[in-house]
Amino acid sequence: MEERRIYLDHNATTPTDPRVVEYMLPFFSDRFGNPSSVHRFGQEVAHVLDDSRASVAGFIGASTPDEIVFCAGGSEANNHAIVGTYLARRDKGNHIITTAIEHPAVLETCQFLEKQFGAEVTYLKPDKNGVVTAEQVAKAITDRTILVSAMAANNEVGTILPIAAMGRICRDKGVLFHTDAVQAVGKIPINVAEMNIDLLSSSAHKFYGPKGVGFLYIRKGIRIVPLIHGGHQEKSRRAGTHNMPGIAGLAKALELRKAEMAAEAPRLIKLRERLWNGINKLDYMTRISSAPECLPGTLNACFNFIEGEGILLGLDAKGIAASTGSACTSGSLEPSHVLLAMGYPHEIAQGSVRFGLGRSTTAADIDYVLEVLPPIVQRLREMSPLWSQGKPVDIRLVSGGMDESCETHEHE
Ligand SMILES: *Cc1c(COP(=O)(O)O)cnc(C)c1O
Repeated sequence: MEERRIYLDHNATTPTDPRVVEYMLPFFSDRFGNPSSVHRFGQEVAHVLDDSRASVAGFIGASTPDEIVFCAGGSEANNHAIVGTYLARRDKGNHIITTAIEHPAVLETCQFLEKQFGAEVTYLKPDKNGVVTAEQVAKAITDRTILVSAMAANNEVGTILPIAAMGRICRDKGVLFHTDAVQAVGKIPINVAEMNIDLLSSSAHKFYGPKGVGFLYIRKGIRIVPLIHGGHQEKSRRAGTHNMPGIAGLAKALELRKAEMAAEAPRLIKLRERLWNGINKLDYMTRISSAPECLPGTLNACFNFIEGEGILLGLDAKGIAASTGSACTSGSLEPSHVLLAMGYPHEIAQGSVRFGLGRSTTAADIDYVLEVLPPIVQRLREMSPLWSQGKPVDIRLVSGGMDESCETHEHE
């Protein structure tokens, strides 16, 4: 029998679309020129750089292609946006507002500024569904605030934040607004003009483009300090020879998303609910975030009384790839900072598994997961010190201090 390979970790990375790979190939060979060169080798790819920039700008509703700065991915774009704003606006204040559920590329950058440059950072707490509101942002702004950075969609639990409303408030108060839109671009509609966004981070490998390439949108008229110094590429905002295969691939991948993402969303929502309905037939399951505004392909579920890592190993042995929280923090047994910020106790958060569905996911994949999962869960629970003779040792651990509005499902 052929070995199964079912990839349900699209929030960690996506496979590069074969149409994108094909489009990229000439930029490694025939069309290898450096777009900054004046000779024909350079000039015949310089227009591809221009076209890619214009296409990306159009996709997110930017007013001019010059607002797009290509870089090496989401982490770099986040660092550039946050450190660059801080260094450019230090004379105006030292206060940054962000959320407690950001990706480490935002959180660690803020902590770096706290330690090295005396920044004051407010980390807004989400509600039990993982949502931070625009009102929380409004309340936290002081006359020292120079930047608000809030993610468009969360990579671990899939919640979508009210970015447009936050942007409106920031614009009214003269505070710059940055959004880490790495999980949003190519999955849900994003328009920087309609959403009052000043700075936006994006990464190609999350939308079926290549790894190691992304962009930072910087609204016209805004000056932030560059991170990478050297040549005059990207109008001196990001030095370094352009990654032409990557940039061309990023633009091609976005073009494909433009054509395909709207139809994909309802399909993924159906598959996600099929997965949850099946998983929820097991006892003592907690769905993390049932917010109405959620990424179509993301499901985070906690298997009470066992550790998510155990489930992952069991699934991996059956050829299924999923994840616990963000890939960047896995390897440690610390529960996810996102679930802890949402108010889940350690015992529940430790049982978290994130399923990231994508383009290739089929109903047959989901049904296979639902077939192999129950015996894995049963075996792990039988080994768990919190479980005995088919029952939890201490039922209070199910809710574990969470207020009762948090759904935990028990079937008898
Ligand atoms: C993946 C991810 C990043 C990091 O992007 P890289 O291109 O891998 O550096 C940042 N933020 C979020 C929300 C992500 O999911």
